[in-house]
Amino acid sequence: MINKLIASVLPYFPKKFIWLFSKSYISGETIDDAMRVSHEFNSRGIKVTIDVLGEFIRDLNEAQRNKEEYINLIDFAHKSGIDGNFSLKPTSFGLLIDREVCYNHIREIVAKAASINNFIRIDMEDSPCTDMEIDLYRRLKAEFPRSVGLVLQAYLHRTKADIEKLLEVHTPEAPLNFRLCKGIYNEPASIAWKKYDEINSHYLDDLELLLGKKVYVGIATHDKPLIDGAYKLIEKYNVPRNMYEFQMLYGVTPKLRDSIVSQGHTMRIYVPFGKEWFGYCTRRLKENPRMASDIIKAIFVKG
Ligand SMILES: Cc1cc2nc3c(=O)[nH]c(=O)nc-3n(C[C@H](O)[C@H](O)[C@H](O)COP(=O)(O)OP(=O)(O)OC[C@H]3O[C@@H](n4cnc5c(N)ncnc54)[C@H](O)[C@@H]3O)c2cc1C
Repeated sequence: MINKLIASVLPYFPKKFIWLFSKSYISGETIDDAMRVSHEFNSRGIKVTIDVLGEFIRDLNEAQRNKEEYINLIDFAHKSGIDGNFSLKPTSFGLLIDREVCYNHIREIVAKAASINNFIRIDMEDSPCTDMEIDLYRRLKAEFPRSVGLVLQAYLHRTKADIEKLLEVHTPEAPLNFRLCKGIYNEPASIAWKKYDEINSHYLDDLELLLGKKVYVGIATHDKPLIDGAYKLIEKYNVPRNMYEFQMLYGVTPKLRDSIVSQGHTMRIYVPFGKEWFGYCTRRLKENPRMASDIIKAIFVKG
């Protein structure tokens, strides 16, 4: 009750106060903040993937603005010499308003990334978006075979079948490229595993399927048992270092992150930034007072 009360009044607290809780997980408001944090990681041999925090969009003008912001970000990061790529959420470009407009915006962003040999990761959102986001990935991959990748969520019952279907378009010229995560949205038990052990066991099954088929995987987790399981699979399939990477969120489990890096594995950190951090954080705090994890959720869960 007390937590709830605190959370409901927090949006009325000064922004600076909320920032105290958020700053460990969000690099800042501006591109300069994202560049500063990215350079810090790069100087320690860690790659980044940069995400612009956008508000839940109401119209296609906002989708257009989000597109322009990403194009600008790609230019800026390239000129700053950042060792990193970019992550985006299709709903920020109008996926739920007009799929074709969304496709064209993301196509422009991927084309921009491809023109400088960079890469765009399509984050996976909640289940009403799954089919549309897989479809978006297939279309973009056909045109930009090495400049776009998708996220898979191990908690969804459908994921193994999705991988098997996508393996049909895995060729040496146009290889699949996935980030595998547990999944962050609150999905119903009819379509998603809910228990920790079930999710972990499917995560490792999916990872084994992908590594066994020589698919590049971003192993996105802070969960030590999964990381240990990944090490075993990497050894079992003798996976070369350039065929996988570990991925973590900015500010989460830094010791575990450093231990992975010290063993010579590639590590990529998800670096979110944007003016909309306050709206995100306060809305999430109001919904659920468990601050740290909600602020992380705020990065992924919209609306
Ligand atoms: C790089 C990256 C990209 C992602 N992209 C997506 C995406 O596109 N779509 C999607 O649905 N989900 C995405 N996620 C979120 C993911 O699905 C999980 O919800 C999240 O990573 C937590 O799961 P976990 O594997 O770390 O395991 P958990 O079992 O949740 O956590 C393991 C341990 O890690 C630590 N930890 C985990 N999260 C936090 C936190 N927030 N604060 C402090 N400690 C924490 C705790 O010590 C915890 O015990 C992404 C995650 C990462 C790392």
